[in-house]
Amino acid sequence: MKYVIIGNSASGIAAVSSIREYDKTGKITIISSEPYLNYSRPLISYLLAKKIGRNQILYRDKDFYKKNKVDLVLKRKAVKLNLKRKRVLLDNKQEVPFDKLLIATGGKPINPEVKGIDAKGVFNFVDLSCAKRIEKFIKNNKVKNAVILGGGLIGLKAAEALIALNIKLTLVELADRVLSSTFDKKASLIIEEALKKHKCDLITKNTIVEVKTKNNIINAVELKDKSILHADLLISAIGVRPNIELVNNTSIKTNRGIIADKFMRTNIKDIYVAGDCCEASDLISKTKKAIAIWPLAVLQGKIAGYNMAGIRKEYPGGFAMNSVELCGIPTISAGETNPVGTQYEIISDYVPKESIYRKIVLKENRIVGVIFMGKIERAGIYIGLIKEAVNLASCFFSESGSSFSKKEYFLKDNFGLISLPQEYRKYLVSGEVAII
Ligand SMILES: Cc1cc2nc3c(=O)[nH]c(=O)nc-3n(C[C@H](O)[C@H](O)[C@H](O)COP(=O)(O)OP(=O)(O)OC[C@H]3O[C@@H](n4cnc5c(N)ncnc54)[C@H](O)[C@@H]3O)c2cc1C
Repeated sequence: MKYVIIGNSASGIAAVSSIREYDKTGKITIISSEPYLNYSRPLISYLLAKKIGRNQILYRDKDFYKKNKVDLVLKRKAVKLNLKRKRVLLDNKQEVPFDKLLIATGGKPINPEVKGIDAKGVFNFVDLSCAKRIEKFIKNNKVKNAVILGGGLIGLKAAEALIALNIKLTLVELADRVLSSTFDKKASLIIEEALKKHKCDLITKNTIVEVKTKNNIINAVELKDKSILHADLLISAIGVRPNIELVNNTSIKTNRGIIADKFMRTNIKDIYVAGDCCEASDLISKTKKAIAIWPLAVLQGKIAGYNMAGIRKEYPGGFAMNSVELCGIPTISAGETNPVGTQYEIISDYVPKESIYRKIVLKENRIVGVIFMGKIERAGIYIGLIKEAVNLASCFFSESGSSFSKKEYFLKDNFGLISLPQEYRKYLVSGEVAII
C-alpha cells in the first residue's frame, strides 16, 4: 500500500501514527513545502520572544520519521493532483503515485490588498520561516516601532512576542475590540487593559489603507482615518483561510475548505482530508465548518490515518476552542461565547483586581460555551460537558428537592466530577450509559 500525505504538521504527523498502528509495512511518503521537521506552530511566538529555543518547538523526536519508516520529502510543493492516475505532481516535475492520499495542507494567510503590502518589513506570522524572517529583520534593521494589523489570536500572539522584545507596538483592529470572534466584550476588555499595561497602543474600528515605504522598506502606515503611524515593521494578521489551492480545478468538493465526511474522506475515493484545510462536523452549529485549531487538526489527522489503513473510525466532531496565555493571563474559551437570543442563559463572575472572569453559556440546560480567564483549572470539565452535550437539569436541585442558584452550582471552587449527573459519572467511568 502506498500512502502519500501532503503536509508535515499536526494532521499529517497524527495520520502517520494511526496508519502505523495497523500497517507496519506500507510505504508512507510525506511531502512538505517547508524545510523543517515537524514543529508546533502555536509556539512560534515564544520562539520569536526568545522564551524557548529551536529544540523546544519540535513535538516529535527527530527520529520519528525513521522509526515510522516515513519517506520525508522536504522543500517540495505539491502543485497538481492527477485523480485518475492517482499521482501527485511536485514542483520539480516529479510524480508521486499513491493508493491513499491525505491532503493536510493547512491554512493560508489573508492579506489586505493595499499599496506597499509587498514592501520589505511587512510579514505574516503563520509559520517558522515567518518567525525567523521577522527575527532577522528586527536585528538587521534595529526595529523600534512596530504595527500589528489584526487583533485576533495570531495578532495577539505576535504582539506578546514583540512586547517581550521591547518593541514599541500599536495594534490596529477593524472591529470595536480585540478577539471579537472568540471572546465577549468583558473578556476583550480585560486583555485590552493588559495590553495597555504592557505599553501596547490599541486602535480599534480602523484599518491600514497604505504601507508607506522608503527604498521599498516600510517606514509608516496610513490608516483609514488618514492618521499616519511610524512603523519599522508591520505584521499582517487579519486571518487565515483553508489552503485549498491544490484541489482547485479538480472534482474534489470544496466550500470554504475541502469538505470531509465523518471518516475524513473527500468525495473522491481514496482521498482524505484533515486539519485547517478542511470543513468537518461542528458539534455546536451542527454544520460543517473549518475550525483552525491544533487539537482538531490532530484528531482529524488521526481519524483520517485509521481510515486510510482500512480501520473504520468516525470523527466525533469538534468545536472552536482556544487555550492560550495572553499578556500573562491564562485563558480558555470554547463554543458559543457570545450568543444572542433568549434561549441562552449566562452565568458569570468577575474579579477585576485579579483579572478573573468566568462565563458559562447554557442552552436548554446544556453548556454550549465557556470563557475562563485568570482561573482556568477546572475548565476541562466544562469543555467535556460541551462535547458530550450533557443535560444538567437534574443538577439544579439538592437531594431534598429544593433548587439552588446555578451560579452557586457551576462556579463553586470545588466543581468537579462529583457535581455532575450520576448517569454522566457512570458513563465516564464505564462508558456504558449513553448520554442523551
Ligand atoms: C502563530 C500561530 C499560533 C497558533 N496558536 C494556536 C493555539 O494556541 N492553539 C491552537 O489550537 N491552535 C493554534 N494555532 C493553529 C494551529 O497551529 C493549526 O490549527 C494547526 O497547525 C493546523 O495543522 P495542519 O496540519 O492542518 O496544517 P498546518 O500546521 O498549517 O501545516 C500544513 C503544512 O502543509 C504544507 N503545505 C501546504 N501546501 C502544500 C503543498 N501544496 N505541498 C506541500 N506542502 C504543503 C505547509 O507548508 C505546512 O507545513 C496557531 C497558529 C499560528 C499560525
